[in-house]
Amino acid sequence: MAILKKNIWSLFYIIAFVGVIILSSIVYKVFFQIEKELQLEQENIVKVTSSSLNSIFLQYESVLDILGIQLTLDNSYQTLNKARPILDNVLKLNSSIIAFGLAKPNGQLYITSSNLKNIKKLPNLLNKEETRDSFALALNSDIMVIGRTYYHKTLDTLIIPIRKAIRNNTGETVAVMTAGIHVNKTFSFLKNTKNEVFLFRNLDYYYQLTSQRTKSNLSIYDNPIPKTYIEATIRKIEKKYNTTLKKIKENKKVTTIMTNRYKNKSEILESFQYLERYDIWVVSYLPYTLIMKNVYSISSVLVLIFILVSIIIYYLFRYIDGYEKQKQEALYHQATHDYLTNLSNRLYLKNEFRTLDSNKPFSLLFIDMDNFKSVNDNFGHDFGDKLLKEVSNRLVSFRKDNDSIVRYSGDEFFFITNVTDKVKIKDISANIIKELSQPYHLGQYQFRLGASIGISQFPEDADNFDDIKRYADIALSEAKKEKNTYSIFEDSIKHKYLKQSLIENELKNALENNEIYMMYQPQINRNGTLYGVEALVRWDNNKLGFIAPDVFIGIAENSGMMGDLGKFIIKESLSEIQKLQQKLQINFQLSINISVKQFIEKDFYENLLIDIEKYDFDKIKLTLEVTENVFIDDVDFIVSLLNKLKQQDIKVSLDDFGTGYSSLSLLKQLPIDELKIDKTFVDDILIDDDSLSMVENIISIGKRLNMVVLAEGVETIEQKELLQNYGCDLFQGYYFSKPLKKEDLEVYLGKKF
Ligand code: C2E
Ligand code: CA
Ligand code: CA
Repeated sequence: MAILKKNIWSLFYIIAFVGVIILSSIVYKVFFQIEKELQLEQENIVKVTSSSLNSIFLQYESVLDILGIQLTLDNSYQTLNKARPILDNVLKLNSSIIAFGLAKPNGQLYITSSNLKNIKKLPNLLNKEETRDSFALALNSDIMVIGRTYYHKTLDTLIIPIRKAIRNNTGETVAVMTAGIHVNKTFSFLKNTKNEVFLFRNLDYYYQLTSQRTKSNLSIYDNPIPKTYIEATIRKIEKKYNTTLKKIKENKKVTTIMTNRYKNKSEILESFQYLERYDIWVVSYLPYTLIMKNVYSISSVLVLIFILVSIIIYYLFRYIDGYEKQKQEALYHQATHDYLTNLSNRLYLKNEFRTLDSNKPFSLLFIDMDNFKSVNDNFGHDFGDKLLKEVSNRLVSFRKDNDSIVRYSGDEFFFITNVTDKVKIKDISANIIKELSQPYHLGQYQFRLGASIGISQFPEDADNFDDIKRYADIALSEAKKEKNTYSIFEDSIKHKYLKQSLIENELKNALENNEIYMMYQPQINRNGTLYGVEALVRWDNNKLGFIAPDVFIGIAENSGMMGDLGKFIIKESLSEIQKLQQKLQINFQLSINISVKQFIEKDFYENLLIDIEKYDFDKIKLTLEVTENVFIDDVDFIVSLLNKLKQQDIKVSLDDFGTGYSSLSLLKQLPIDELKIDKTFVDDILIDDDSLSMVENIISIGKRLNMVVLAEGVETIEQKELLQNYGCDLFQGYYFSKPLKKEDLEVYLGKKF
């Protein structure tokens, strides 16, 4: 049933098939019914014809009987004058009799009715071939004998001779009376109907009479029906009725068989009945084609009805099918479209772009709204949804025939077009950005949002959709750096990307191959004494050479390798610095940089405590450096984590302070011990007033919030002194020392402190 539901047409074909079978069996039945009816009708015709013929012949026989009695009275048959008036009298009463004649037992005709008196030489009936047998039979028979039918030219009719012996008192045949029956007058009932009827003589197989009495047909009386044909037919009847000819003749029943006409071999349905008294077969037949014609005419009506019904059912099914398809399509539409914007969704992408045809190139525009997150954060998601709808409407206005627009996620959209010409694509992108940057009016508010677009092209950039998508994403992050602009995944980006994937690939085995190690950069107090060191990771790869940490840390973060790398950094720094402090018998602070990715890992805190325990590190001497972007995600979680660290007396330093977006109000709530002034500000304090006032501000904020302030990137004494004058607590930079390997740090510490 499920299959049928799936494909309603199977059901239709089954119905049609069953219908054809039923129709065939009905036609088959109709055929038999018709055949049966026609057979019955034909057998009735034969029966009626037989009994009519029998009674007609009996009538003539009785006429001959009466004549015979009259002629034997006074032996009047012997003399012309006595016999002729008798014959003439009877002739007058029987208009269907053409003439009477009396013949001697030797065959010589000697008296005729007067209408034949002009005939000069009366024939001897025993001398003529066509009369001899019947005459001879009549001599010895008590029954009227019927002679062979012949055509009389002058009278223009067929004549059937009948003969009967006249016997005297002692029973001796003294004469044979003979008469000619006018066929046209007597057998007019034997007309040409659809069933042909004919009589043939059992004695010599000559035709006695047929219902076809056209002139052209007269010659059939001149020759007998071939004996072989008759015998074959008899055998057929015997076989069909499983009996013998003798019995068929005896029980006088009508028999019917399918056979072929001997003349033209056409198939016929033929019925036979034997008239025993006159030794004649009454036959009727019907051309098979006539039966088939009947069958065809009824069948064609049936077939017509069947076709009609089939067509109705077909349209019904088509309707149902169409309805089903519509439903399916609606479901598919629902599944492949975004409920909010009614644009296509990821499922649509997956289905439509699973396989790509290189003959159908396209460009993928990866569109991302700039700063959309702040709308959601500040105005709520309902508002954000309304805005996205408006964004989608504006995008749709760019759609041409074969373009697809997909809401990929949140505020990310794909615009896929078969335009690949770079100039045109740049044009389209610029226009989209322009349109999306128009002010949005929602309720009482008016916004301006930007959009960035990353573009990659199939098949130019890659042969599969995943890569196309990734490249567009890479181009997008290029564009995002600038915002409100587009970027095509071109050679420069490609190059950079390839380099990155190369780095990523090498980085996978870097830990295993011992290519990663730590360096430490001293941090100095205001009075010039050692405060601590910042642990900085290094990677020396034999293929790629030295890779800067700000390059590979990002890659490690984006490729899921930061967790392992971070664990290594923590363990290695704790272990090395603990050993050094042990060896030199001095205590100083250790600062470890912690990536956001590490910081939000599930067991970060627990693992840190385990490591501290394991390497026997003094917790008070540990600082974790985090950047402002750890507060972007889940502030509550981070704050609780920072509080836990504080309870453990582990310090937290806010790195790169001033470059991000932290608000002062947020900073107040955070349990942070140290602010790190970013190197970029320190670089410029001597030449740029803005930088100087920024540094001034940072220091005063730090002081107000009871935090220690550290300046990094201090390269000159002037910078150091200026910072110190503004109240900075700690210093780090090349002026004091570059980051040092463990051994060099040992030397440095031994020398200086
Ligand atoms: P950062 O945490 O701000 O580190 C300070 C960077 O400034 C270090 O570069 C350091 O060598 C450099 N520096 C310090 N004083 C001076 C100076 O006087 N002049 C100049 N020109 N540079 C100075 P480095 O080691 O290349 O690290 C770059 C960034 O890589 C770091 O910035 C940090 O964000 C990241 N990083 C380095 N090591 C680690 C690590 O172990 N873990 C994590 N998560 N990130 C690390
Ligand atoms: Ca740092
Ligand atoms: Ca920094």
